[in-house]
Amino acid sequence: MQFDIITIFPEIFSSYFAESLIARAQKKKLIKINIHNLRKWTKDRHKTVDDRPFGGGLGMVMKIEPIFKAVTALKRKAQSAKRKTKIVLFSPRGEKFNQKTAYQLGKLDQLIFICGRYEGVDERVAKHIADKELSIGDYVLMGGELPAIVVIETVARLIPGVLGKKKLLKERITKTKGFIEYPQYTRSEIFQPKKGVKWQVPKVLLSGNHKKIEEWRKKHAKIIEK
Ligand code: SAH
Repeated sequence: MQFDIITIFPEIFSSYFAESLIARAQKKKLIKINIHNLRKWTKDRHKTVDDRPFGGGLGMVMKIEPIFKAVTALKRKAQSAKRKTKIVLFSPRGEKFNQKTAYQLGKLDQLIFICGRYEGVDERVAKHIADKELSIGDYVLMGGELPAIVVIETVARLIPGVLGKKKLLKERITKTKGFIEYPQYTRSEIFQPKKGVKWQVPKVLLSGNHKKIEEWRKKHAKIIEK
């Protein structure tokens, strides 16, 4: 699966995507992540990507022209390679991103992300260019870069082979509902933060009784809906 990120802060991503499972997934060619500097699609000397808002108000708004050019160029490539693609704009006013959306997005071949900054993006981008407006939660960030990382990570881990062991993903999925997330423990069995205080691992997990363990996990699980 391919991810294309349009941003004015391309450097943000380099260290994050160079670590751990996301780095390995790229090396194994399970995913491809392209970072595009929006300023590449500006023509003026100052590489302007923002301007003052019509109607007045504080802050700056991202202009439609460079975004239109960037998306058009990326879409053209996608079309000639016959990739199923969606354009996602990040916005705190968008549809709330969740596990279900991750599954749906994971069925595509490519996602193109537009990361806003400043006071947001000219509304015509949402109206005419983006296929989907996504919010990662009811709070306002400074930019769409973290949301892009959040969505890529969530979608990527659903791709077979991205998580170390294939079984790992299977084990955690119920047939109908979604992921089972339950509490986990590892050694030490008894942790003593200070004298006279013991933080213990629930006994049932040490019992070796698989049926009981499963029951305990079910009881304490949260299912993240598909
Ligand atoms: N006043 C603006 C907020 C701008 S925040 C508005 O209402 O749209 C700057 C950029 O950060 C946004 O354009 C968006 O791309 C990103 N952003 C901020 N909070 C976000 C959230 N919760 N989810 C997704 N993107 C967000």
